[in-house]
Amino acid sequence: MTPLETLLRRRLRLTGPMTVAAFMQEALLHPEHGYYRRQPALGAAGDFVTAPEISQMFGELLGLWCLDYWERMGAPDPVLLVELGPGRGTLIADALRATRLRPAFHKALRLHLVEASPVLRGRQREALAPFAEQIAPAQWHDALAALPEAPLLLLANEFFDALPVHQFEHTGEGWRERVVVEPQIGAPLGFALAPPGPQIGLLDGPTREAPVGTLVEISPAGLAVAGEIGRRLVQHGGAALLVDYGYGEGQGWSLQAVQGHRRVENPLIEPGLVDLSAHVDFARLSRAAAERGARAYGPVAQGAFLEALGIRLRAQRLTRDADAGGRAGVEQALARLLDPQEMGTLFQALALTAPDGPAPAGFPALAV
Ligand code: SAH
Repeated sequence: MTPLETLLRRRLRLTGPMTVAAFMQEALLHPEHGYYRRQPALGAAGDFVTAPEISQMFGELLGLWCLDYWERMGAPDPVLLVELGPGRGTLIADALRATRLRPAFHKALRLHLVEASPVLRGRQREALAPFAEQIAPAQWHDALAALPEAPLLLLANEFFDALPVHQFEHTGEGWRERVVVEPQIGAPLGFALAPPGPQIGLLDGPTREAPVGTLVEISPAGLAVAGEIGRRLVQHGGAALLVDYGYGEGQGWSLQAVQGHRRVENPLIEPGLVDLSAHVDFARLSRAAAERGARAYGPVAQGAFLEALGIRLRAQRLTRDADAGGRAGVEQALARLLDPQEMGTLFQALALTAPDGPAPAGFPALAV
């Protein structure tokens, strides 16, 4: 039993069942034992591999996306370059390297990183070391709210999927929230449905009308971040790009646990040692930002988005002077990022902008 499980059982005995969101919050962010507070195992040797860790092309293209938007919005100086959950710092380092041909951009940008993990903050600092001469020192924050008020360009890859979700089921007796319980002292932790209660306030009107049998996941934390991004974009201008695995319509509950690249069947096992995540509900995130006046574009499939940004040209450049092994590596990375059976369609990109700002690159249409 992990130390965190011991603590959670004590809490369950004292105060009764906890929501899935509360469990996720503790499992990921408990100050001492949370998965992301300890040594989150990102990368080939760890629990999961993300797009920037697959290829430098991902961070480079996202960096150029920011530069393009900055130029078309009138090149404000200063501009905040913000990343939510920068992981090992690979994406932001690739983005900075790709944009160094525009010294005015590097001079204008103020790098702000929102990161919960002290270990990863250290990795990010190392990744940024090569840019110490060109950009102002980065600042780290626990939450978006702590950022200064200014125009912003914001990137978030696989950040929203790590935010806690509440799970609801529309049963014959009305909407009920799924909770975590200890069925008997010492027995494995399990799930149950709580009696109908005030938590139902988290469901909006149209959702409550959904038929009996419907399963819904809501992330108030994610909606709050999207709303805050929207407010800042409306007030100061700029653009945000959120990339994550997307929620399919009528998908139900998507909470999943991953360890060592393998899906763990029971997400309640070994809390603190296992990564928990849920698919991202882009429609709800768009609405949360739109309610603050921001404009939403997409979501578009990651493959189509990266193709629109010119990933194939970039790949050609990279392979031009490479040996056979290098060429194969780039081809393999392209396939992983673009193919529908890999990340190409499961992952999606959503852009948010100020209502009067230019349209972001790579998005053919407004979100519906
Ligand atoms: N963007 C990176 C890492 C994704 S993993 C990549 O694509 O490789 C999720 C990241 O978000 C990690 O850096 C994790 O520590 C951070 N994170 C998770 N929940 C967070 C929270 N509530 N507040 C701040 N950072 C968080």
